[in-house]
Amino acid sequence: MTTGLRDDAKALNGDLVALRRELHQIPEIGLQLPRTQERVLAALDGLPLEVSTGTSVTSVTAVLRGGAPGPVVLLRGDMDGLPVAEGTGLEYASRHPEAMHACGHDLHVAGLVGAARLLCARRESLTGDVVFMFQPGEEGWDGAGHMIAEGVLDAAGRPVDAAYGVHVTSSVYPRGRFTSRPGPLMAASAGVFVRVVGAGGHGARPQDARDPIVVACEMVTALQTMVTRRFDVFDPVVLTVGSFHAGTRRNVIPDDATFEATVRTFSDRTAEKVRGEILRVCEHIAAAHGLEVDARFEGEYPSTVNDAGEHDFVVATVRDVFGEERFETMPNPMSGSEDFSRVLQRVPGAFVFLGACVTDDPASAAPNHSPRAMFDDSVLADSATLLAELALRRLKGGSPS
Ligand SMILES: [Zn+2]
Ligand SMILES: [Zn+2]
Repeated sequence: MTTGLRDDAKALNGDLVALRRELHQIPEIGLQLPRTQERVLAALDGLPLEVSTGTSVTSVTAVLRGGAPGPVVLLRGDMDGLPVAEGTGLEYASRHPEAMHACGHDLHVAGLVGAARLLCARRESLTGDVVFMFQPGEEGWDGAGHMIAEGVLDAAGRPVDAAYGVHVTSSVYPRGRFTSRPGPLMAASAGVFVRVVGAGGHGARPQDARDPIVVACEMVTALQTMVTRRFDVFDPVVLTVGSFHAGTRRNVIPDDATFEATVRTFSDRTAEKVRGEILRVCEHIAAAHGLEVDARFEGEYPSTVNDAGEHDFVVATVRDVFGEERFETMPNPMSGSEDFSRVLQRVPGAFVFLGACVTDDPASAAPNHSPRAMFDDSVLADSATLLAELALRRLKGGSPS
């Protein structure tokens, strides 16, 4: 372990907590986070970094040039909040009534700033460069895709060799526990948008109309049957219809019915196959009843896949720096999705979760995205330490097998 790094991180903790709590009060949503960006730029001010900002989005990219040539490591922190009305009652709760850092991205920003400070203090001994990726728009806005399009993976003037990210969790795992797994870690996500077009009429004379509601209902249930009949239970599909709208009054058959679903998959093969299956079910059920349908399938994020060697490197680093018991292998992937997947599609790397539960009962704590989700910022020093340590070791040639 690098001498003093963990102690230096502990000394920074007060600053990181203050930054995190400041950010927590000013959550911003999507790709345009001007106030957050301003805080990040201020926090990096004075450090020996080459800082640039996004053109189409409010990203911040900072490059640290090491004292000697070597590989390029990317460390990533996402910065956006969610359209959730905060219900924690914390003294530093969101001042915005309709936005909240309910996924802990405020801790990701502070943790990455901490890593930048730790590594800048060791600049001369770095054999290679570090790219710090402060990313907006993770929560469904494809901020990572925008930053990749604007060149973050070549920010150091040559391609990134390895990439790492940490995500905090408010529940499930205890505070301070790092968790991950090799291979598929998180799901791919996609959206399904269906409009069933019939012909409205009187509820008493359905034979004179073409009722879109019963046909749309049949699609909703048939899609669940499709999941169980067309896919391997060991390469699963999750499909949830989260929105369904039709009609105005009980005795009026409407012209159309619409519904939307989210779809989660864990392999490229299944992600590809599910699209055709969904569209076929919807189109053929509509045809069976003589109605029209406009069904669209839109891929969102690919699945987040950890490189096996990089995952093992992260595990070894966690155990070496913090102790054996601090890492736990997840038995299954998570069905949430994450746009760090876009980075991991192009660069070997790993994504790791860090338990930040505020109570000693993570099983009953409010999960990420809940209005009551709370994150213990005492983990910030460890988050910053791990990111910095991964970069230091990877640049020194502690490459994965
Ligand atoms: Zn989230
Ligand atoms: Zn998140």
